[in-house]
Amino acid sequence: MKLSEPSLHIVVLEKGVLPYGASTRNAGFACFGSISELLTDLKSHSENDIFDLVEKRWKGLARLRQIIGDQSLDYEPFGGYEIFTSADKLLSDECYEKLNYFNSELHRITGKKNVYGDASTKIKEFGFSNIDRMLINNGEGQIDTGKMMKALLEKCRNVGIEILNGVDVTKIENENKFCRIDFNNGFSILSKKVLIAVNGFAQKFLPDYDIQPARAQVLITSPIKDLKFKGSFHYDCGYYYFRNVGNRILFGGGRNLDFAKEKTSEFGLTEIVQDSLDKLLKDVILPDTDYQIENRWSGIMGLGDTKSPIVKKVSGNVYCAVRMGGMGVALGSLTGEEAATLVLND
Ligand SMILES: Cc1cc2nc3c(=O)[nH]c(=O)nc-3n(C[C@H](O)[C@H](O)[C@H](O)COP(=O)(O)OP(=O)(O)OC[C@H]3O[C@@H](n4cnc5c(N)ncnc54)[C@H](O)[C@@H]3O)c2cc1C
Repeated sequence: MKLSEPSLHIVVLEKGVLPYGASTRNAGFACFGSISELLTDLKSHSENDIFDLVEKRWKGLARLRQIIGDQSLDYEPFGGYEIFTSADKLLSDECYEKLNYFNSELHRITGKKNVYGDASTKIKEFGFSNIDRMLINNGEGQIDTGKMMKALLEKCRNVGIEILNGVDVTKIENENKFCRIDFNNGFSILSKKVLIAVNGFAQKFLPDYDIQPARAQVLITSPIKDLKFKGSFHYDCGYYYFRNVGNRILFGGGRNLDFAKEKTSEFGLTEIVQDSLDKLLKDVILPDTDYQIENRWSGIMGLGDTKSPIVKKVSGNVYCAVRMGGMGVALGSLTGEEAATLVLND
């Protein structure tokens, strides 16, 4: 917005000392949908809705890479995989039966042939245990989200966008031709327009909207000698995900073990989720391997009944761009542009 309208005065109000949401705490998958996840989504949404969303993710990733550059993002095109145990036989049968269908849809969207394929011959080489089948997604990559955020902040500063950290916004109200923004320290400011982009924390400002917080828990291992695989991996319809970060493994998921408890905007770790991550890591992903868990953390996503972001006018001079779901890295850039256009042209 500032690039096309340099005279605008834009201020970002951020609660954290550093950006403290999902963008600095996520898994860094540059992904647009595993087959089992898309199949699950197609059971409750139309083909149009789902493949429109896949296209937005695909184009959004291209836009992000164009804005920041692969080197600054540490983008690595290692590919993505989906793994299936013998207990997932029915699910894997369904995914394999639909390979041609998904490849033809993805060809239409990406221009690439055979985005998905069978990679089961690599299971042994990767050292996994109890995995029967494995699909590859040739279009998937991974990024360093810390570097992404650093580059985005730098870009903002370079064009004169002010970022005020440590500002906890408590209320936003239309006041004549302006919006009044209240902070938790009693301070208020007036602004011509406000865009609410707090994603998983949005319920406070948009209580009637279909957006709920969803906590996701993650861990990272110590460096692993002779790590046997590189890439990003999906398991259990996307409820679990892991990837290499150099020669470490970042592993997250397990929210489906206790949906109710994870429907929160409070950071935190729970025994049931962390135990399941520890067990899958040891039994399936890194059997017979020496490693320690070096860090565990959580982040807050914004989810709803559908996976599309909400970009709209809320009232008067207040707008929102929220509900990035589990793929905000992919959706963020284009959603930001859509929101900027809305705010500017209204
Ligand atoms: C563990 C985890 C793994 C993920 N993995 C991936 C992945 O691999 N690939 C992918 O595409 N997506 C992934 N996601 C999702 C992705 O990270 C998010 O969709 C995306 O980062 C959302 O960006 P955002 O800017 O909308 O929200 P956020 O990054 O959450 O930013 C919202 C900001 O608002 C601030 N804020 C909140 N309340 C207030 C307030 N009252 N006043 C002022 N500021 C406030 C917060 O401090 C925060 O910095 C993951 C998410 C998590 C949690």
